Amino acid sequence: MAKKDKIVGIDFGATFVKLALISLDGIILKKDSFKTGDFASRDSLIAEMVRRARCLVDKKDDVLGIGIGVPGQVDYKKGVIFNLTNVKGWRGVNLREILKKKMGLPVYLDNDGNAVALGEMEWGAAKGYRNIVAVTLGSGVGGGLILNGEIYRGGNYAAGEIGHICIDRRRPICNCGSNGCLEAFVGNKAIAREAVRRLNKHKGSILLRLAEGKTSKITPKLISQAASKKDNLSIAIWQDIGRTIGIGLSSIINILNPDIIVIGGGISKTGSLLFKAIKASVKGHALEVSVKRLKIVRARFVEDAGVVGAAALVVKEKGCNS
Ligand SMILES: [Zn+2]
Repeated sequence: MAKKDKIVGIDFGATFVKLALISLDGIILKKDSFKTGDFASRDSLIAEMVRRARCLVDKKDDVLGIGIGVPGQVDYKKGVIFNLTNVKGWRGVNLREILKKKMGLPVYLDNDGNAVALGEMEWGAAKGYRNIVAVTLGSGVGGGLILNGEIYRGGNYAAGEIGHICIDRRRPICNCGSNGCLEAFVGNKAIAREAVRRLNKHKGSILLRLAEGKTSKITPKLISQAASKKDNLSIAIWQDIGRTIGIGLSSIINILNPDIIVIGGGISKTGSLLFKAIKASVKGHALEVSVKRLKIVRARFVEDAGVVGAAALVVKEKGCNS
């Protein structure tokens, strides 16, 4: 009998679809990706997903299953997508059944934030912990909760939407229709917008020079670069962003008392400057008893978090481990 020691992980993002062939100990053996927006129809995108997945697999008999994380809410049991926030035309699609038929392999479909949390528990920074909050900081703020070693999906599979914790109801309108959500403060665009706003009072900042004089070129990555060169404005921005993230996390900490919070996504690469600010903020806002043993750490997986997490869905369901 074949070993079935490989998994296909698919990260269906709003910008890219990433695929990887992954070993049972979480090592990426092969990977591939393509742009989500390059396909006119849903069917053509699915066909491309299947074609690429087949290319990754040498022998189908070696593959334990396919895991896929999607950027939206799904009915985990049925494998049906409720809605994808930033990709149109997927409401009500049973992507799990479609992939299962086309690939002839078991398929598990979940929200990408849940998958990321599972990946960190299985092979990453949260290995050995049972109460985990995973946060992904990027264009949006994704979240996944693991309670007592199991993903907590909620009554209608919509739990873990950390990005929509309200920080200040008088502040920016969020994509979800509410005001002042965490995501509306610390999403990539919001950070860049804040930097541009503050530049008026900090004309000497090297940030503008790094952006070649064009405020439109300012990104969180550039603000991190400027901060590493001791740019006061950029340092202050990250300290404020960290403070805001800490306020949001404090709400979750007070409710769930997690063992560990794993923070990933592009912005997490800013490193200790950001993490120090987050930790100080959490200390100031969350209950002392909940913070006492809490760990706040960087995620192990950043670019590959989605595919690794998707693969972890299969490991979890199949009950096997390395
Ligand atoms: Zn919101």
